[in-house]
Amino acid sequence: IYGPHRKNSRGVNLNIRNQYQPLMDAMSRFMDKTYRARPLLAFEVADDASGTHEVTSPYDRNQRVGSVQWTSAAQAAQALEAAWAAFPRWNDTPVAERAAVIRRFADLMEEHLAELMTLCSREGGKLLTDGVDEIREAVDFCHYYAMRAEQQFAEPTVLPGPTGESNELMLSGKGVFAAISPWNFPVAIFCGQVVAAAVAGNTVLAKPAEQTSIVAHRVIELLLEAGMPRDVVQLLPGDGPTVGSVLTSDPRITGVVFTGGTDTAQIINRALAARENAPLPTLIAETGGMNAMIVDSTALPEQVVTDVIQSAFQSAGQRCSALRVLYLQEDVADRVIEILDGAMAELHVGDPRDLGTDVGPVIDEDARRGLMAHIEKLKGEGRLLAETRLDPAHTAHGTFVAPTAFRIDGIDALEREQFGPVLHIVRYKASEIDAVVASINARGYGLTFGVHSRNESFAELITQKIRVGNVYVNRNIIGAVVGVQPFGGQGLSGTGPKAGGPHYLQRFATEKTVTVNT
Ligand code: GLU
Repeated sequence: IYGPHRKNSRGVNLNIRNQYQPLMDAMSRFMDKTYRARPLLAFEVADDASGTHEVTSPYDRNQRVGSVQWTSAAQAAQALEAAWAAFPRWNDTPVAERAAVIRRFADLMEEHLAELMTLCSREGGKLLTDGVDEIREAVDFCHYYAMRAEQQFAEPTVLPGPTGESNELMLSGKGVFAAISPWNFPVAIFCGQVVAAAVAGNTVLAKPAEQTSIVAHRVIELLLEAGMPRDVVQLLPGDGPTVGSVLTSDPRITGVVFTGGTDTAQIINRALAARENAPLPTLIAETGGMNAMIVDSTALPEQVVTDVIQSAFQSAGQRCSALRVLYLQEDVADRVIEILDGAMAELHVGDPRDLGTDVGPVIDEDARRGLMAHIEKLKGEGRLLAETRLDPAHTAHGTFVAPTAFRIDGIDALEREQFGPVLHIVRYKASEIDAVVASINARGYGLTFGVHSRNESFAELITQKIRVGNVYVNRNIIGAVVGVQPFGGQGLSGTGPKAGGPHYLQRFATEKTVTVNT
């Protein structure tokens, strides 16, 4: 199931000059290019200036990346018709052929690493290091799901039966999937969803996040170049209310694979349930988190701070997996906060294309405004513990939020997930540990969780009691690796199955048992 013949992609090491410099040279060709993204559907789409939206960079709103033509409701409906018609043919295509398309696509993404990384930075505000990881993860999803599809779909599983009877279990695609993806992993999660659905035999309508439609468009162009038929995977850039509602209200949609906020997942769930005369749908949702880390008195403060900085502030805290609530046992709390304060003072916030930048912008003005309202409220209550300084020379034209750390009394003080570089710190007494774990569980989310302790039995006990999808002991809590740390949560954090895990494709498949009296 896990390898050993499969290896994850190696990416590029930006600390090595002869790897870094050629990549920078290649990226420079795409820095000023102006893009135009549009629906990529089974049929030709006419130019429509009135449905076209401008895209600028999160780090500099004066820099134009290009424009995106959104999909109309009528085009979405027509695309759905084509996807429905294409399904039987694609589902009957041998899985080896489907997997071969996906592998060629992975190779093309690696060849176009420089352009895709540039777009991740220009459109999504991603740091270069995050961009390398992003493309690497997308490539890994392709190889991993191609491998799993061949293992699971090529041959039926032979089951036992009495003499004179043969039993077989076979997997095939379910129908038409809508893939609704987020802006924070505009290549990796986007590809993961599309590739999993398609390699399993489904046809796919992919709706990328509004904020990152240009890179999604470039990715689907590569997928088509790899040989994916135009009616099997279609790209529908557009807004949720227009495109999303067509995709979630039509009875021909067999399943939705979604990553994004918990509230949106609930809207999708209700829309799917409200359809009349529709088959019961599959909903695969990977949603928000209110991720905690517990640090006990035996932990090493310096290591804790390194891991906390990465977990809370890498990608400007815009990961579902990011650390939101840090629980410090009172014996180590002062020391950890002191080192954290020093480390946060050193962080450089600015242009994501500079290798010296630690924290880039947040995605857009709405995100910045929401985070600033939360930050101002906690500052007003006198809760600030540490803060990174913003230098206007590097941040004046973009949507930047300085990393901050606040004292709060417990996870219940947080009404909602704050999707940005804001860390909340709670001090606890050793005698309160059971109540701390119970409160994290009771909050209802269950995505990632960390424990820092040199006491093995403490770490084991907490790991056992905590109800989350991904537990990390004595390290950071972000950056799950495909096939190594299958990723996804429970409760308010998602339905499962885990992305990049051995059971993912099964949810995109229907099973048939065939019994023959021989
Ligand atoms: N898989 C990512 C990680 O482990 C997070 C994905 C997300 O933010 O949705 O950091």
